[in-house]
Amino acid sequence: MGSDAVVTRFAPSPTGFLHIGGARTALFNWLFARNRGGTFLLRIEDTDRARSTPEATQAILDGLAWLGLDWDGDPVSQASRADRHAEVAQKMVADGTAYRCYASKDEIDAFRAAEKAAGRPPLFRSPWRDGGAAPEGVPCVVRLKAPRDGETVVEDRVQGTVTWKNETLDDLILLRSDGTPTYMLAVVVDDHDMGVTHVIRGDDHLTNAARQTLIYRAAGWPTPVFAHIPLIHGPDGAKLSKRHGALGVDAYRDMGYPARAMRNYLARLGWSHGDDEFFTDAQAIEWFSLEQIGRSPARFDFKKLENLSGQHIRAMSDDEM
Ligand code: GLU
Repeated sequence: MGSDAVVTRFAPSPTGFLHIGGARTALFNWLFARNRGGTFLLRIEDTDRARSTPEATQAILDGLAWLGLDWDGDPVSQASRADRHAEVAQKMVADGTAYRCYASKDEIDAFRAAEKAAGRPPLFRSPWRDGGAAPEGVPCVVRLKAPRDGETVVEDRVQGTVTWKNETLDDLILLRSDGTPTYMLAVVVDDHDMGVTHVIRGDDHLTNAARQTLIYRAAGWPTPVFAHIPLIHGPDGAKLSKRHGALGVDAYRDMGYPARAMRNYLARLGWSHGDDEFFTDAQAIEWFSLEQIGRSPARFDFKKLENLSGQHIRAMSDDEM
């Protein structure tokens, strides 16, 4: 593989079934990797021990397998990499891009309340940012030393240029007081170590991209390309819910929809290729590009799925004749 080889990933949290939104994210990552002759990786983000279950992991693997979204290599368990996450955070402390913060919850709450009362955003500004003698026996977290001035810019391939004033971003926690990594740190370290070149995911993660950009910089690593896809809405424009058909993909399998029709339908939820509605996998792989992902939320439409399903079933029986 050349140095410009594309590496994408799907990084679900195993807290439930593989829903329509997750399946579409996986599909876009898969299509993009296959279009570019790249690699599509799977990472199970199981760091939230309380909410992650082996059943949910299995449901996600089964859902992807049914959809035919084959990943390269073995799935990576994020929880199994906690030592590596901690090592990176400690290196950042040694390099001066992160610091140990001994502030108690009460101190933090009081600071925030005072900021709010003064009409400022209720962000915590740690007194430990510039060092100080470590108090004995007091637990600490590791925080990123985020820049206070200037701006953080994300050049997103779907959303365009998105800018945050650094004064609105706080010194986020990288390691908790029990030494476990936060989601924000784990994602960056894993994406870096797995060689991910393109992060394609729902736009509910857009602000995380700014925070993650700061972590990449602090670690001295290049940032991947970001592409944040608008979420899927119901036919009435409201956030997609169960009432609209936001079921697990297994429900669609059980209803008898062919996987190829589901892939076709999911691809059309937020991505388009001219006026083409019906297409084969080979065509979707050939045509897929990030530029054709729309900026407004796609609307889930059962009728379209029904239509495409009928067309695929007819095409399949033609093939067999
Ligand atoms: N685990 C996150 C989720 O399921 C996704 C993280 C990411 O794609 O960066 O929403």
